[in-house]
Amino acid sequence: MPYPHMLAPLDLGFVTLRNRVMMGSMHTGLEERGDWGRVATYYAERARGGAGLIVTGGMAPNNEGGVFPGAAGLYSEADIANHRLATDAVHAEGGRIAMQILHAGRYAYGPDCVAPSAIKSPISPFKPRELDEDGIEKQIADIVTSAERARAAGYDGVEIMGSEGYFINQFLCAATNHRTDRWGGDYENRMRLPVEIVRRTRAAVGRDFILIYRISLIDLVPGGQSFDEVTRLARGIEAAGATILNTGIGWHEARVPTIATSVPRAGWAWVTRKLMGKVGVPLITSNRINTPEVAEELLARGAADMVSMARPFLADPDFVNKAAAGRAQEIAPCIACNQACLDHTFQGKISSCLVNPRACFETELTYEPIDSPKDIAVIGAGPAGLMAALIADQRGHRVTLFEADTRIGGQLNMARIIPGKEEFHGLVDWFAGQLERSRVTQRLGTRATPEMLVGFDEVIIATGVTPRDPQIEGQDAPHVLRYTDVLRGGADVGARVVVVGAGGIGFDVSEYLVHEGHSPTEDLALWKREWGVTDPAEAPGGLAAQGPQPAPPARAITLVQRKPGKPGRGLGKTTGWIHRAALAAKNVQMLGGLEYRRITEAGLVVARDGQEELLEADTIVLCTGQEPLRDLADALEVAGQRAHVIGGADVAAELDAKRAIDQGARLAARL
Ligand code: NAP
Ligand code: SF4
Repeated sequence: MPYPHMLAPLDLGFVTLRNRVMMGSMHTGLEERGDWGRVATYYAERARGGAGLIVTGGMAPNNEGGVFPGAAGLYSEADIANHRLATDAVHAEGGRIAMQILHAGRYAYGPDCVAPSAIKSPISPFKPRELDEDGIEKQIADIVTSAERARAAGYDGVEIMGSEGYFINQFLCAATNHRTDRWGGDYENRMRLPVEIVRRTRAAVGRDFILIYRISLIDLVPGGQSFDEVTRLARGIEAAGATILNTGIGWHEARVPTIATSVPRAGWAWVTRKLMGKVGVPLITSNRINTPEVAEELLARGAADMVSMARPFLADPDFVNKAAAGRAQEIAPCIACNQACLDHTFQGKISSCLVNPRACFETELTYEPIDSPKDIAVIGAGPAGLMAALIADQRGHRVTLFEADTRIGGQLNMARIIPGKEEFHGLVDWFAGQLERSRVTQRLGTRATPEMLVGFDEVIIATGVTPRDPQIEGQDAPHVLRYTDVLRGGADVGARVVVVGAGGIGFDVSEYLVHEGHSPTEDLALWKREWGVTDPAEAPGGLAAQGPQPAPPARAITLVQRKPGKPGRGLGKTTGWIHRAALAAKNVQMLGGLEYRRITEAGLVVARDGQEELLEADTIVLCTGQEPLRDLADALEVAGQRAHVIGGADVAAELDAKRAIDQGARLAARL
């Protein structure tokens, strides 16, 4: 059997999980819209795909504990019927599902938020109200009631969210708990809340109900818990009746990335490993585990008893079944980009997945087999064209894929060489493998002409983009490069560089140029040093006393834009700060509000507030956005041949792989 540790059942005494893979909690955004049929379909697909246990997105136990006003929960008996749709659908597929109870405490985005002490979080505009004794009792009672309702709704268990800096975590740390009553002060008092919650929940739901407690093993904030304290808490929680402990890493306000793509794979499993053997209940490890190989390796070496993966189940609901069937290469990889999942959540949109636009859209985006196959030409093997070709093929069409380059991937081939974006290799490899396994006729190294496209029933133009010409005086000098010159490799780049244009690509190019040699993402010890992470047994919260120790930059970079303000505002909602912090750590100067006057041998002459100044540089790299590449589309139009234009060839502005893949999939689904 492949992956014998990952696929081994887990006996919890009163119930046996079919394998060691938990689909971790992820907000979908569907519950708030009352779209419970869709919720049920979404979870049922993941149960059918083999997940051993599913945990729902966080459900608020009451109004004050909701992550935002109107956040989904199990507030009332009436909600039970809705949740029942999901639990029934999962059980019908042979799966098991637990509901996460999430009380946000001071992270609740609203004026009614409550906390152990009236201390505002740096990431929230709202100062919480300090709870009195009755208030604390009410919160506990509401959490217990939620668990009882979860049981009534057919859940197999609950997960009590005790990490990530939410309500319970706020009681545990002295920095957020200034109380002097029995709920604050020494650690015994500070851990009273989680222990009481677990004890009373267990008493209320009975013995045969899974009770997962998500424990913050490393807070990553100043004043975080020591590992001795965490261990005491773990033992207290076990004694109070938890069935399983799940790993939580870092508070939301922590300035250390915990799940972004630049975090090394399984980069936090060492923290779970520290707790192994110190408690009797099974431990789940989490964060940046995205392939069966990684999961198997962790379990085989005893880093945990089970693994949690959340985003990988958005990317591919059949993760476990494909692994079990020896088809692991077919698993659509989660590249940990957050672009369609967490970024959507924080924008109030329905979550989905960059590599799988069907995630959370299972009922409306379907790839139905067709009765009369068409001959379809797809031009361009970047993300948009690849997805369109694969879905059209999957549905039964006869597809020919033209690509001028000798390899597939388009812009993804540039992303994959950026330090911290190594996951893009997996995405390109997955596309390549899927193409090989499909019936798509590949015509690589072929620049399609209108003549070649005569006779096709449908033509899909996905020819991508071309770098925008910023028309700066002197830009034709030999020390001026385009980002494509740099990211395709081989270009000679000097020690002092001005990167012109601070969009996603300007940031990527800067990241590429400050690193020399290997990427911290592939070297956990180096990565931890760069971000100031240490063993929580050595420093409370796991923050190194000396702070981040980034290696010196390989080059001196100045990153500039014309817009006023600091560059990087338009980057991903949940990851932009990481890119900005990573470049700041490498002393990259980021300047906004500039006017570009001319390029000279000495560098870029700019004007700031009307004053000219020279930004000295040996090399200048132009990253000034992109324009659609639509020569072929225009030629076809002239020839009177109809074509569908997708991806960057359609709209280049703010193009990213998410929009490209989504557009490709949706077009192919309706042809
Ligand atoms: P972008 O985000 O549109 O940024 C273009 C930059 O160029 C901006 O800083 C803009 O700022 C500047 N600019 C625009 N027109 C200019 C002009 N005429 N002269 C001088 N400067 C000009 O484009 P991008 O950086 O090329 O990224 C495109 C998309 O790809 C983004 O949405 C991003 O999410 C995605 N992305 C792709 C990759 C990849 O590898 N393919 C990597 C990262 C990101 P000012 O106008 O203020 O100067
Ligand atoms: Fe993973 Fe990105 Fe998909 Fe989120 S959007 S599940 S991070 S691939």
